[in-house]
Amino acid sequence: MRDDEGDYRIPPGGGVPWRDLSVEEARRPPERDLEITDVKTMAVAGNFTWGLVKVETNTEHYGLGETFRAEAALDMAERLVVDLKGENPLDVDRLLELMNQRYTGCGRVGQSAFTGVETALWDIKGKVLDVPVYELLGGKYRDEITIYCDTHGGESLGQAASRDPTDVYTPESYARAAREVVDEGFEALKFDLDVLTSRDVDTAARRLDNESIEHKVSLVEAVRDEIGYDVDLGMDLHWNFTVETARRIGKRLEPYDLAWLEDPVPPEQVEAHARLAEELHLPILTGENVVTAARFDDYARAGAMDIAAPDVNKCGGLWELRKIATVCDLRGIPLAPHNISSPVGTIAGVHVCAAIPNFLALEWHARDVPWWGDLVRRTDAPDEPILEDGYVELPEGPGLGVELDPDVAAEHLVEGSELFV
Ligand code: MG
Repeated sequence: MRDDEGDYRIPPGGGVPWRDLSVEEARRPPERDLEITDVKTMAVAGNFTWGLVKVETNTEHYGLGETFRAEAALDMAERLVVDLKGENPLDVDRLLELMNQRYTGCGRVGQSAFTGVETALWDIKGKVLDVPVYELLGGKYRDEITIYCDTHGGESLGQAASRDPTDVYTPESYARAAREVVDEGFEALKFDLDVLTSRDVDTAARRLDNESIEHKVSLVEAVRDEIGYDVDLGMDLHWNFTVETARRIGKRLEPYDLAWLEDPVPPEQVEAHARLAEELHLPILTGENVVTAARFDDYARAGAMDIAAPDVNKCGGLWELRKIATVCDLRGIPLAPHNISSPVGTIAGVHVCAAIPNFLALEWHARDVPWWGDLVRRTDAPDEPILEDGYVELPEGPGLGVELDPDVAAEHLVEGSELFV
């Protein structure tokens, strides 16, 4: 909702209890008495459009963050400067609460925008206090973050739309891709299993015939035959099926000891998730389209997820991700966060994954982008790769511990977007 000046402002009483979240005096010592001066955004063309956010202050310190994909979320993030200018960026929780209160009802786009800004605030806070972000989120459970590789057998979803899908998504192509990824050092990977397997399927009905299900089983079988059972293997269904079809698929996949079956039914169907989690002898993973800890609590209480997959750049912020981890940990649910972002958002996720006990693996979705790691440099080890042998080593530089390479950002800037460094 926009006001007369085009802002997304929602007046007091817009759906949540209205609290006065302003602070009259900063009351901080001079070295921590700083102000937000601007919020800038830019879009970089990776395999998705990566929405980067920069929050500037009246000191040398600035922060970087990332929204889930770009466009609307970036537009909104930039407009948040109206509310944030003059505020002390160290008040991360209060400013996130302020954004949530003023822009309630903006859904996943709003939470993506908040996340981009909030991540940048943590980056600033870490730089001001001269500590990495994970220290601010509770400290360290681990030094290396296990990354699971989103893997495509044949071609990416959508790219093969004009061809016979059974020629593209073959057991051989799945097995070959799995072998490559394991040989690159990954100990966890995931495939899309909602690839079309027949031109006759009525996709609107969300139901598959037996032949289509057998094709999916053949893909999974080929992967297990190639890489064995010591590798964590997830399969993603992208919300595409009815409970009965998801159940038929899941039952046939039980012998393959999957690490998880992802998003079998649409995200709003909490009870349907719970039925499948109860009936199938394989873990149900969901959550990339669920935002805020309150909604994850709904899923957790309903028994609707065995593994939670909040999206690092959409779920509502790094602090929100930490809260989601706590909500899930209370019910014995581990996190395998969804992540399709640039190294900025990925490293933000890495800091949270280091600081939570119930961590399984963090997604990486950029195997098709050879320059992915070149977009940033680690400030503590500029020549070290961001991702190596299936792991990200936790950065120890202040804040997120990475800075953008302006040349790489400029080279891949989305047309019409303005470069910040
Ligand atoms: Mg998914």
